[in-house]
Amino acid sequence: MKPLIVANWKMNPETLKEAKKLFDSVKRGIKNIKKAEVVICPPYVQFSIFNFQFSNNIKLGAQDVFWKKEGAYTGEISPLMLRDAGCQYVIIGHSERRTYFKETDEQVNKKLKAVIEAKMTPILCIGETKEERGLGKTKEILEREIKLGLNKISASKIIVAYEPIWAIGTGNPCEIEEAQKMRLLIRKIIARDVPMLYGGSVNSRNAEGYIKEAGFQGLLVGGASLKAEEFVDLIKNVC
Ligand code: PEP
Repeated sequence: MKPLIVANWKMNPETLKEAKKLFDSVKRGIKNIKKAEVVICPPYVQFSIFNFQFSNNIKLGAQDVFWKKEGAYTGEISPLMLRDAGCQYVIIGHSERRTYFKETDEQVNKKLKAVIEAKMTPILCIGETKEERGLGKTKEILEREIKLGLNKISASKIIVAYEPIWAIGTGNPCEIEEAQKMRLLIRKIIARDVPMLYGGSVNSRNAEGYIKEAGFQGLLVGGASLKAEEFVDLIKNVC
């Protein structure tokens, strides 16, 4: 599998104009790169940049979804709407959603099922907080997130992103050796090979190590995906 590099733009950038500019610069920067699969997950209202500037080697992803197909759910977006908009991947259970929006493992499970049913690929985010790690609870947390998240779901249909919460947006990434241990632990808990991404303060300098040394199949990138030059360098460095 080619390294899968997923950009999570979160609630950025502020305007459609800036989003177009960022997308266009990335598209130009990686136009000759065939050895990586790149997915960009912009805010919903910026999905149109993909229609304006269609790119063969960049796929569209979403940062979240609701599990219902349609109906009276003010403010929500359905899996069918995402698919219709051209989405192929959906991030589910990001720690920011679990923390700020109190998303539960049961809700994560419903979202995963709905995305699979709509024939897109879900990216299940799991990871422990600094406190949980300090208390030696990492394995317990990952086991819970995997067991409840994947309840009655075939792991063959998903991608897992290990995102230690203490590493997200902190500039304090997980050490490569430790990340490799965590990858093996998650592999053991899931009991089968699934594509696994690492996320948490990845940049153009450390990206390669997670793939070539720690054995991850790709990366989930937040902050560094908002700077075109840095993101293009990151992609080049893992190819
Ligand atoms: C993320 O939000 O998924 C993430 C990994 O962010 P950052 O790269 O900024 O740590």
